[in-house]
Amino acid sequence: MNLRFILLQETLRHKPVDIKSVPKRSDIFEKNVFTDEKLRRYVDNRTFKAYLKAKESDKGIDRKLAGQIASAMKSWAMENGATHYTHWFQPLTGGTAEKHDSFLEKLPDGQALEMFSGDQLVQQEPDASSFPSGGLRNTFEARGYTAWDPGSPAFIYGTTLCIPTVFVSYTGEALDYKTPLLRSKQVLDKYAVPVAQLFNRNVEKVMPTLGWEQEYFLIDEALFTGRPDLMMTGRTLLGHPPAKTQQLDDHYFGSIPERVMAFMRDLEIEALKLGIPVKTRHNEVAPNQYEVAPVFEEINLAVDHNSLLMDLMNKIAPRHHFRVLLHEKPFAFMNGSGKHNNWSLMTDTGINLLSPGDSPKRNLRFLTFFVNVVKAVNDYEELIRASIASAGNDHRLGANEAPPAIISVFIGHYMTEVFKKIKTLKGGKLTPDKKTELKLNVVGKIPEILLDNTDRNRTSPFAFTGNKFEIRAVGSSANCASPMTVLNTIVAHQLKQFMEDYRKQIDKGLQKDEAIFTILKDYIIQSERILFDGNGYSEAWHKEAAKRGLSNLRTTPEALKAAMKPEYKELFTSLGIYSEAELESRYQVQLEQYIEKILIEAQVLADLVSNHILPTVLRYQNQVAANVLSLHSLGMNEGSNKDLLNTLTSRIHTLNEALDGLKHIMDEVETAKTEEQKADKIVKKLLPAMNRLREISDKLEMMVDDEMWPLVKYREMLFTR
Ligand code: ADP
Ligand code: MG
Repeated sequence: MNLRFILLQETLRHKPVDIKSVPKRSDIFEKNVFTDEKLRRYVDNRTFKAYLKAKESDKGIDRKLAGQIASAMKSWAMENGATHYTHWFQPLTGGTAEKHDSFLEKLPDGQALEMFSGDQLVQQEPDASSFPSGGLRNTFEARGYTAWDPGSPAFIYGTTLCIPTVFVSYTGEALDYKTPLLRSKQVLDKYAVPVAQLFNRNVEKVMPTLGWEQEYFLIDEALFTGRPDLMMTGRTLLGHPPAKTQQLDDHYFGSIPERVMAFMRDLEIEALKLGIPVKTRHNEVAPNQYEVAPVFEEINLAVDHNSLLMDLMNKIAPRHHFRVLLHEKPFAFMNGSGKHNNWSLMTDTGINLLSPGDSPKRNLRFLTFFVNVVKAVNDYEELIRASIASAGNDHRLGANEAPPAIISVFIGHYMTEVFKKIKTLKGGKLTPDKKTELKLNVVGKIPEILLDNTDRNRTSPFAFTGNKFEIRAVGSSANCASPMTVLNTIVAHQLKQFMEDYRKQIDKGLQKDEAIFTILKDYIIQSERILFDGNGYSEAWHKEAAKRGLSNLRTTPEALKAAMKPEYKELFTSLGIYSEAELESRYQVQLEQYIEKILIEAQVLADLVSNHILPTVLRYQNQVAANVLSLHSLGMNEGSNKDLLNTLTSRIHTLNEALDGLKHIMDEVETAKTEEQKADKIVKKLLPAMNRLREISDKLEMMVDDEMWPLVKYREMLFTR
């Protein structure tokens, strides 16, 4: 029997696992996390206070203190079933990395003892040579080291104590996603605090917050194994879409919705234990597509939690005979997956700086931060675009489902009106009447709650959604740190600029409110080109955006290149987010990853066509030929069957040609001299060649006897509920 049918039968045996409803949240939340509260139970008061102080100061933790904390951590971890520990970090390859060491150590006298010292907590040397560094680590300094980030608590994962760390080279360059994120957070704090203090003297700290929304697909495990392309590349490289009007056949999948629910509950329980504050939901735009989102958190914790959750999903799905697809575009002709990043700024006094308030004063503060964010995005839209660039996301952006590759900001009807009013101000000194009017009628009237669901523009890549901004163009498999680092940085830079402008206005003799209004008015005028509330998918917008001078970087190589302009390098280096070497190395790593990913896809596609599709269509062609021959020999009219044979033969011919063409171009890419040349050939030649081959193969799929077709079909993978 055709393997495909065996796999389809296998799905019938996949029954839902009985997952009791989610236990009381408070009973399991952070059960597996070594919170400060737990530390307090294991150390004396003085140690605990010293730890809190060290954590707050960002200066690092001394050896003695580290020893005491390590010992506490070990006791707690072992009491809770851990046998190993690992430094857990987020390398540039994506995903997370771990190297497990046992607590158990042999003493010289042969005795074994459970050990975990302060040194082991604070610093480790993973074998880093397998992680990409873009040339940062040359042979004499072949190893990077991981260093504990006390801002993110340790947790037990399986039987391993995981210690969140940053990953840096011996010369101090960042080799991970986390280090620049932490730097950007500090810089943002530095420049946001003075601005916040204009409105409230008590503010001492400003922290960015992030709430992500993770989209994903679930596919039956048996069917997944029937798709070598999904297994090897995370997306289908072939496959005819099911006809739009065709009822999806759910015959094989009777039990699946329950299985999905069981998976979601299981995931929710495990995530809560790890302190990830999820509130699961499922809204499928496409069949089999779901979403999970947490309550927002401080940005570095939210980034860790998203990475951890992606890992957790992959671990839990097989328990339910599922595979999770985190790729941005697993299926052609259907919606792909994104990861909205909701971002805001929170003060240590508990105020959301992007939330309008109930008084003119609070609203002026809101407006100040709001306008500065818009201005920052206006000035650095190319950096935002580059921060979300990846081979997978290229399939989504601009594909009439996700935001386009053109970055614009949607601020909603109400804020558009406010901007209009402020624009008409003359600037400079205000009469008392004018001041009152402004306060009462412009800022005073911004309602406390701006959430207006009719007002939401789903096609906007960067939208204000009532009390936060939402980057919608992030890909589902991305590490959020990349766009978040850029956003923190450009806003920090903008707020720095704002304070300089503010002081100039004050020196000119303006009063506080007058100075602020004058500057905001200028910023609004300067940022007009980035504001757009129409249909981001339309051709008209593409033309309009070009007129406004907005970039439209359609592919990853273009976007990455654009981000390497001198003025952008200057921005990052001057604020200490990335060094010049780090920027160069990241560019190299990303470009290499892009090339490698697509070359693997091309290879898998070529193999699939050579080993699966071609032999199948030849067999079918033989059958039809035999049929025509026998009709002919019986003296019957073979007419339409002969036409079928002709079409089939000509398509097989085209398939062969397209396959040869693809192989030829792959050679061309591989032998190109520089990475830039390789990327260029991929964009201009390889991707179109892959599309050509797919197109003809998909046509053949529609012609060939269903029982012969070797690959699990789209309609079989994508069941209705
Ligand atoms: P939608 O799916 O319509 O975009 P949701 O309410 O489902 O909206 O998701 C909103 C997301 O925004 C959640 O992840 C939530 O945690 C996040 N969020 C809410 N407030 C803030 C904030 N102040 N800072 C960052 N993220 C926030
Ligand atoms: Mg959203």
